[in-house]
Amino acid sequence: MTSWVDKQGYPAAQAATAYADRKDWVDLRSDTVTRPTPGMLAAMQAAEVGDDVYGDDPTVNALQTECAAMFGMEAGLYFPTGTQSNLAALMAHCGRGDEVILGQDAHHYKYEGGGAAVLGSAQPQPLQNLPDGTLDLVQVEAAIKPDDSHFAITRALALENTIAGKVIGREYLAKATALCRRRGLSSHLDGARIFNAAVKLRMPVGELCAGFDTVSVCLSKGLGAPLGSVLVGKRGFIDRARRIRKMLGGGMRQAGYVAAAGRYALAHHVDRLAEDHERAERLAAGLSASGLEVEPPQTNMVFVGVPADRCAGLRQHLEQSGIKASIGPRARLATHLDVNDGGVDRVVAAFRAFFRA
Ligand SMILES: *Cc1c(COP(=O)(O)O)cnc(C)c1O
Repeated sequence: MTSWVDKQGYPAAQAATAYADRKDWVDLRSDTVTRPTPGMLAAMQAAEVGDDVYGDDPTVNALQTECAAMFGMEAGLYFPTGTQSNLAALMAHCGRGDEVILGQDAHHYKYEGGGAAVLGSAQPQPLQNLPDGTLDLVQVEAAIKPDDSHFAITRALALENTIAGKVIGREYLAKATALCRRRGLSSHLDGARIFNAAVKLRMPVGELCAGFDTVSVCLSKGLGAPLGSVLVGKRGFIDRARRIRKMLGGGMRQAGYVAAAGRYALAHHVDRLAEDHERAERLAAGLSASGLEVEPPQTNMVFVGVPADRCAGLRQHLEQSGIKASIGPRARLATHLDVNDGGVDRVVAAFRAFFRA
């Protein structure tokens, strides 16, 4: 296949060399660092497109429909990022001054710039996550405010799965959504990595997420698309979220070129997440065999304890060994599409060499 780079007259040889250099790196900073595979690029190049703000991009429409169907939902909406998808969902669930109960460690609380509060005027009510990533449902229920003019109106519960690589099982999710229904709350699931959870549990995502009003899923993480997230839910809700997406600047035009990557990812990169999970286990086993404290991985995230006074040295050593990783006292190493067995072995060897020295 001739790539667009050649057609545009870019120095292809130079581009190829730069790419080869980059391929040499083992990059464990996140599962977002993947580059499109040749098959994905071909799908992107072949995409039929339209203007999605007019609703006539067939590839975006197909992605939204296919993704909604996987979750057993009525409709889907394509977003440039997971942050915007979560924000639009929370804004569509909560009016100004309404409250959303969420986890202190949740991405939509801690790592999204406070968007729900800043841009959505929704009040977050954070609760401490339990070690398994869940929220104590007794605490959730106790945090629902009584009907009294002192209080914000508690409107929604938002959970995350996987959270820090941990899988939240069906039993808990069923209880949480039942609680929402009983108490009249909406339920949102930040399922940025929900396919990692579903593959781990060997359960269709639709079954795992049943009962949630909305789910947001990232195509740009382990699934390997260059960008994009999909929010799924009821049709009326998705229509509200579409207005909010436009307001947030997320109305895109010939988005089918990137949506094609998302469709490709959903068709080809879901089952293979099991390989990332196996490599995370292999990595964890290798690191703990060299005496490091490693948290047993559940999916594609390995957390390793690094003595605080060794962090800077380890960072430098890994860099020199062609390994990119976010090293801190609790370092997170993520496996993904662009890390193979050889890469895992190189990482284990580099850690060993450093801690033996
Ligand atoms: C990455 C991530 C997001 C946000 O996705 P972006 O596309 O980076 O904005 C939301 N939630 C979770 C759990 C994530 O890991």
